[in-house]
Amino acid sequence: MPEGPDYYEVLGVARDADADTIRKAFRRLARQHHPDVNPEDPQAAERFKRVGEAYAVLGDPQKRAQYDRYGHVGDGGFSPGDVDFDVFGDLSQVFQAFFGGGGGGARRRRNGPRPGDDLGYEIVLTLEEVVTGLEREVSYNRLTACPECYGTGAAAGSSPQRCATCAGHGEVRQNRRTMFGYTTVVTACPDCGGAGEQIKEPCRRCRGRGQVPEDVTRSVRVPAGVEDGMRLRVTGGGNSGAQGGPDGDLWLLMRVRPHEVFQREGTDVACEVAVSFTQAALGATLTVPGLLQPQRLTIPAGTQTGTVFRLGGRGIPSTRNPNIRGDEFVAVRVVTPTVVTPEERALLRRLAELQHEAVDDGDAPPPAQPVGSEDDEDSGIFGKLRSWLKF
Ligand SMILES: [Zn+2]
Ligand SMILES: [Zn+2]
Repeated sequence: MPEGPDYYEVLGVARDADADTIRKAFRRLARQHHPDVNPEDPQAAERFKRVGEAYAVLGDPQKRAQYDRYGHVGDGGFSPGDVDFDVFGDLSQVFQAFFGGGGGGARRRRNGPRPGDDLGYEIVLTLEEVVTGLEREVSYNRLTACPECYGTGAAAGSSPQRCATCAGHGEVRQNRRTMFGYTTVVTACPDCGGAGEQIKEPCRRCRGRGQVPEDVTRSVRVPAGVEDGMRLRVTGGGNSGAQGGPDGDLWLLMRVRPHEVFQREGTDVACEVAVSFTQAALGATLTVPGLLQPQRLTIPAGTQTGTVFRLGGRGIPSTRNPNIRGDEFVAVRVVTPTVVTPEERALLRRLAELQHEAVDDGDAPPPAQPVGSEDDEDSGIFGKLRSWLKF
């Protein structure tokens, strides 16, 4: 039997604390650690759960006596590490009763139908895969109905027994004397927790939980056009529900890797290509990057640096209609030649003469040192595009 946490320590009370002290300690700690009060703190739910777990035992005289004597509670199949959501379910009832939430609504049946939890899975894909869409195998672990007991939680050859205390109703009525006479109070049955049945002999495979973990591999289809951070739902792909509750869903979180060449905005992409100043001056047909294959782009004579060209329909498909694709924008950067041969130098001088331009003849004072360039601004190409295109 694994050793569990010390419930007295969790609640910060003495071993001989009376019921009132224990209840007060629990109320104070539950308020302090409630996840709603600590939305920024991911550990709050864990602490809240531990406090609830401790109170579920110490707050119940019978369970407390058992815990004091044996260091654990329950009949064989139970260990403190096993309680997880069962106790959490109990705790929300306890919590409602103490803080006035709920107002007498339907009590959650402790062992009754419970929907399965949703699960998440991250899919990392390239921009090229976004263009085509893809089929991917995902492998993950989920909870499924125990094959040994078919999800009942009862050992083979036994079955959950109708609870004798509540005759299967899950509720008990008590007559209480008040100053106005007798009143009937209906509460969840203390013996079966409201389920109406009890498992006398828990299934060994699932320790009475009715569920076991399983590894599943399934093929999922990611449509073209998804964006980073988008979530796709695979209905029923999460944990299976308990006792006939619906299965949870599997959520696929899309993570699109940044591209080396392209920047993306919605269904449009943009890139920058370098052209020589002779190509820019005379015009040229260029091979430029494309999402699925290189594209041809003809630039006219006299193209200035920073000019943006649009390749219509060469962007990313829309998730709504894969036949509609965005555009590819190509920004042209004219590169000044830096290494020139004597022959090129002579030609450039001749060009300068023809255009009556003053150029350095080699005898001039030392050139000015640049203090920066436009490239220093890391505003992103779409920022530049916007100013060029005046979006
Ligand atoms: Zn089982
Ligand atoms: Zn009962």
